[in-house]
Amino acid sequence: MAKNRITTHLVCSECKERNYTQVVGKGRTIGTLKLKKFCSRCRKHHEHKETK
Ligand SMILES: [Zn+2]
Repeated sequence: MAKNRITTHLVCSECKERNYTQVVGKGRTIGTLKLKKFCSRCRKHHEHKETK
C-alpha cells in the first residue's frame, strides 16, 4: 500500500503530553493546527498543538 498517510500527535501546550494521535493525508501542512482539548495529565482543557 502507498504511504500517503502520516500519524501526527496533539501535544498539550502546558505539560507537553501527547494526548491524541490522528492520521492525516501526506500533503497537509503539519504544525498549524491548534485545538482546545482535554489533557489527561493536567486534568484540564488546554490548547493542544499538532506535531509529528
Ligand atoms: Zn497537559
